[in-house]
Amino acid sequence: MNSKSKYFIVSVLTFLVIACSSGFNLFSDSDDMQLGTQFSEELKKNVNDYPVYQNSKLKDYINTRIFQHILKSPEVKKRNTYNYQLEIIDNDTTKNAFAVPGGYVYVYTGLLKYLNSEAALAGVLAHEIGHVERRHSTRRITSAYGISMVLGLALGDNPNQMVELAANLFTGLTLLANSRSDEDEADEFAVNALVSSRYYPGSVKFFFEKMKADKLIEEGGNGISTFLSTHPDPIQRIEVANQRMKSMGYGIKHFTDTGDGIYNNEYKKYILTKLR
Ligand SMILES: [Zn+2]
Repeated sequence: MNSKSKYFIVSVLTFLVIACSSGFNLFSDSDDMQLGTQFSEELKKNVNDYPVYQNSKLKDYINTRIFQHILKSPEVKKRNTYNYQLEIIDNDTTKNAFAVPGGYVYVYTGLLKYLNSEAALAGVLAHEIGHVERRHSTRRITSAYGISMVLGLALGDNPNQMVELAANLFTGLTLLANSRSDEDEADEFAVNALVSSRYYPGSVKFFFEKMKADKLIEEGGNGISTFLSTHPDPIQRIEVANQRMKSMGYGIKHFTDTGDGIYNNEYKKYILTKLR
């Protein structure tokens, strides 16, 4: 090997080491799509753990009224690239929502029953869309799985790798846990995406405010909800959302507020009363 090709290899390896450790994403948009599709297939196979909520009217309402409404925001750059889809998981004990690459967003009935306004739900959904748009999952996979897998994918020497990866991700849902900075980025995205919507842009914090009011979270304490294991620092996130509202010239609204941009009556009428 001559010194030129040695230099080339060292350069490539250096690039990959930096890439894999710095939040860089070596997946393509179509990889994200493929991974998301595989993942949703895994979910469908595990109906016991992830039963789909059988109320298409309610799902249609949430999808049309809130999810698609948010997707119209100019902040959503990949609405035509990804296959954005909303699914409701029939599980009343889990107050959670999550997103997988490529646009699949899942929300639990436990969260739907807990929230009290369309704005609060819009905040959660906009946050999850933010994870998809910013591609947090595959960015984290890039750093977690490292060079060998990424090289393998890039060289295409194992066509089943995407299937395996989706299965691995599925058995270890924690791998999808987002870092504190990813959470903040998704919260910021939610605020910006909701500016052009009918909903109060700071509503991403409403869930946490209600949790705090119900003493389900406390400052410096350990949360009891699974939501917290993937969504750290809820108290700080409330404060950051308030700061963002102030700096953007909005008033501070609370999760118990009614009126412009909240839509609590609609939530009660079209969502809460329709949930079994
Ligand atoms: Zn999140």
